[in-house]
Amino acid sequence: MNSKTPNPPRRKLHIVTHGCQMNVYDSARMADVLAPLGYAPVDSPAGADMVIMNTCHIRERAADKMFSALGRLRVLKEDTGGKMLIAVTGCVAQAEGEVILKRAPYVDLVVGPQAYHRLPELIAAAHRTNNSVIDTEFPVEQKFDFLPDAAAPQGVIANLTIQEGCDKFCSFCVVPYTRGAESSRPAASILAEARRMVAQGTREIALLGQNVNAYHGAGPDGGVWSLAMLLQELAEIPNLLRLRYTTSHPSDMTDELIMAHRDNPALMPYLHLPVQSGSDKILAAMNRKHTADDFRRIVEKLRNARPDIAFTSDFIIGHPGETEADFQATMALVRETGFALAYSFNYSPRPGTPAAGLPQIPAGEKDARLYALQAELRRQQDAFNASTVGLTTPVLFTGAGRYPGQIAGRSLYAQPVVVEAPAPLTGEIRQVTITHANPNSLLGTINGHSTQETIAA
Ligand code: SAM
Ligand code: SF4
Repeated sequence: MNSKTPNPPRRKLHIVTHGCQMNVYDSARMADVLAPLGYAPVDSPAGADMVIMNTCHIRERAADKMFSALGRLRVLKEDTGGKMLIAVTGCVAQAEGEVILKRAPYVDLVVGPQAYHRLPELIAAAHRTNNSVIDTEFPVEQKFDFLPDAAAPQGVIANLTIQEGCDKFCSFCVVPYTRGAESSRPAASILAEARRMVAQGTREIALLGQNVNAYHGAGPDGGVWSLAMLLQELAEIPNLLRLRYTTSHPSDMTDELIMAHRDNPALMPYLHLPVQSGSDKILAAMNRKHTADDFRRIVEKLRNARPDIAFTSDFIIGHPGETEADFQATMALVRETGFALAYSFNYSPRPGTPAAGLPQIPAGEKDARLYALQAELRRQQDAFNASTVGLTTPVLFTGAGRYPGQIAGRSLYAQPVVVEAPAPLTGEIRQVTITHANPNSLLGTINGHSTQETIAA
C-alpha cells in the first residue's frame, strides 16, 4: 500500500480581518485549518478560490460596511465563474446569521467564532449540497482542542489566545452575545503552543482574551490556574523574553496578578486596563462592577509594584445618561492617571444590548466631548513618547525597517523603534538610546553589544 498522502490541489485563500487582535489571531488559525486542504494565503481577493471576511461587531455600521464589501466580492466571484467561496466569520456572522444569507445569497459560509475548527467540513458541505452553510452554534467542545498546530511562524512578536467570551454583560457590549460565555483554555495546551511559537522564532507573546485576566484554566497539576500562575510558567520557557496580556477588566485585577508585575521578570511594564468612564454614575449604568476610585487604587498598587509601569485604556463617550459633569469626571481621571496611549470611542448602540434601548445622547454632544478627550489623550501620548528621548532602553528587534539600512523593533512599552544597523538582529534585544520621538514611533542608536534585558525597577 502506498502510505503517501497525495498533495492537495493548490488553492488561493484571501482573508480580510476587521477588529481586534483576537480576530487577527483567529484569522491566522483559520489559515492553519485550511492549509492541509491546499489553501495558501494571497494578498488580493481577485482570482482567489476562497475569501474569508472576518468581521467585528463592536462598533457601529459593522454590518453595513460588511454588506458593501460583500457587494464588491460578488463581482470578483462572478469573474471566477461563481467558483470563489465566500465566507463571513467573526462577530457579525454570529450576530446576523441568516440575515447575511438573505441579503447576500452568494455568500457560501457563515461561521461564528466558536466553529472555526469545523471549516473543512463546512466547506465540504457547501460543495456537496451546492448550498450556503451556516454554523453559529456555541458547541460544547472547545475549538482550541480541534484547531491544528500553527502552520506558519508567527513572527518575533506574536499573539496567543488563552481565553474567550465574557460573563460580565456590560450594558454597551455585544461580546457576551457574539463570543459566548467566558471560557479558558487548559494551561498545558497554551504552554505547548507557546513552546512551538518560541521554537519558530517568537520572543514576545501577547496573551489575548476578551477578559484575559479572568483566566482560570485547568492546570496540568489538576488545579485551576490563574493568569499569574500561567505567566510564571510561561516565563520559564527558554528564549521567551517578554510577556504581556490584553484585555483586562479592572475588577479581575487581583493582588496576585499585581504582584506578578513585581516578581515576574518577563512581564512587560505595560498594561491595557480599560476604565471606560471616570463617573461612578456612568460606571454603574454600564454595569462595570468597579468605581473610579477602584481603578485609581489598582493603578496605585501597580505603580507601587512596578514603578516604571505605563497604562493604556479604553473610553466610551456619550453612554446613555452621561452629563457634562460625568464627562468632566472622566477628564479628571484621565489627567490624574496619565496614559501612554488610549483608545476612545463614541458610544454606539449595539442591537440587543441593554443600553441600546435607552434615550441617546445627541451626536453633536458626543462628538464635542470625544474631541476634547482625544486632544488630552494625544497630549499625554506625545508627552510619554517625548519622555523616552535620551533614555537607554531595551528594544526587541523584529526585522528590517522601512528604509535601507534601518531595522525596527519594539520597546518595553510596545512603541515601534527604528535604528540604523548593518545586521537585522531579528529576535534579539539590544540597549538603544532614544534620540527622537515621532507621534507613533521612536528613533534611536544601538549602544554597544548584546545586552540581557533588565526589567527590575
Ligand atoms: N473586555 C474589555 C473591558 O472590559 O473593558 C473590553 C473589550 S471590548 C471588546 C473593546 C472596547 O470596545 C471596549 O473597551 C470599549 O471601549 C469599546 N466598545 C465596546 N462596545 C462599545 C460600544 N457599544 N460603543 C462604543 N465602544 C464600545
Ligand atoms: Fe464587553 Fe469587556 Fe464588558 Fe465583557 S467585560 S461585556 S468584553 S466590555
